[in-house]
Amino acid sequence: MTVAARKPWHKPVLTPHRAGGPNKFGNTRTRAFRTEIDGVSIDSLLERYGSPLFVLSEHRLRENARRLLRSFRTRYPRVRYGWSYKTNYLNAVCSTLHQEGAWAEVVSEFEYDKARSLGVPGSRIIFNGPHKPRKALERAATEGALIHLDNLDELFLLEDVARSLGRTIPVALRLNFDTGYHEAWSRFGFNVESQAAHDAARRVAAAGLLKLTGLHSHIGTFVLDPRAYAAQIKIMAQFMEFAEKETGAHIEYLDIGGGFASRNALQGIYLPPDQAVPSIEQYAETIAQAMMEAVRGRKDWPWLILESGRAVVDDAESLVTSVVGSKRLPDGRKAMILDAGVNLLFTAYWYHHDCQPTRLIDGIPEETVLYGPLCMNIDVMRHSVWLPPLGIGDSLVFNPVGAYNNTQWQQFIEYRPSVVMVHENGEVSEVRTPDTLATMLSQERLPEVLRNPFPQGMPD
Ligand SMILES: *Cc1c(COP(=O)(O)O)cnc(C)c1O
Repeated sequence: MTVAARKPWHKPVLTPHRAGGPNKFGNTRTRAFRTEIDGVSIDSLLERYGSPLFVLSEHRLRENARRLLRSFRTRYPRVRYGWSYKTNYLNAVCSTLHQEGAWAEVVSEFEYDKARSLGVPGSRIIFNGPHKPRKALERAATEGALIHLDNLDELFLLEDVARSLGRTIPVALRLNFDTGYHEAWSRFGFNVESQAAHDAARRVAAAGLLKLTGLHSHIGTFVLDPRAYAAQIKIMAQFMEFAEKETGAHIEYLDIGGGFASRNALQGIYLPPDQAVPSIEQYAETIAQAMMEAVRGRKDWPWLILESGRAVVDDAESLVTSVVGSKRLPDGRKAMILDAGVNLLFTAYWYHHDCQPTRLIDGIPEETVLYGPLCMNIDVMRHSVWLPPLGIGDSLVFNPVGAYNNTQWQQFIEYRPSVVMVHENGEVSEVRTPDTLATMLSQERLPEVLRNPFPQGMPD
């Protein structure tokens, strides 16, 4: 009697076929693709600069800055804009925004130096942040920067600088308080509810070494409800009244920080960005109304300073990345390995970035997980995205990626790639060259005794 040979067992897999039918928000975008950026073919960019590749749109960047300034200046007459360097401090990005009239908003000595090296005068630098070394404060004070105090130690340090320079230094106080709209950040600046801010203003007046001319606060980031800013302005205006009446200060500006949301899909938010994120005009309308309310009855209107970062740069940059491998995971999901991961796209930790193939791909879209190239389990670009069957060498465009990636990327495991800018006239410039072994090694020093990796006489 013969026993029938057993067939090997395979775990069953169900693969739903979703060919792009509509859901409750409209048509799904499983067949969407993008072949060019501002008229320049993505294939030609990859051919010339390699993959992966960051691509900036000069046009989008300028348009975003113009729209921000236009929507605020048509609603409140005195508006200044400070570009938040930490959001993206590539020189090409900063210079484009300076050409559009933006000042520099910096949060460290390095960023201050970078703004100065680009030719920004000190008088157009807003100096925030919790760590300003004495040398940086001296330079900022001498060059007329807007110094925003974070804590009492810094206040005393700057008073000492004023003493040694022999002149009074204009300053702003960074305030923190609860707007009632979301979690209050209490770690930066002086707290209003506890009166620490009031004490600081009194101290400034009493010592006579500094002169309080401005108020600053940055209530958070990705703030989806414009009314949070109205609440912020109301509290700042009350503080302005206190400082002017009780300490004799004259407040020339209210700086409301950044935090406007960009059109990106924050993880944990169900609605797509088109529906969840207010337009710049909606922020401007609410904020300008609150400012008009705050200045009612005043002889002179304070400047409104904005420090918007992500809302201005995010959609002006894309990351193009190529498929280098694929596999079927044990649970049946399709997985793709890309040549760019969280080393380059730090924000993949908190956004579901939109990503599209760079050509029309036939075939049935499948739920796919996108991994980066790192030998690290956390290196996931998208945990779940519906994509058509891509092959080796196919590429994907991630957008928006302009905010916090070129500053928070890590030189880790892989070389960092080129960044190019597509100009308004269609020309393309490389604005940051890729890492090479030489750039990676340029700061290393190998002691003489370690120069030979395999000294003679050692066992093989
Ligand atoms: C980070 C930061 C900004 C920019 O924030 P966005 O959320 O990118 O608009 C502005 N001001 C200060 C003080 C910041 O720390």
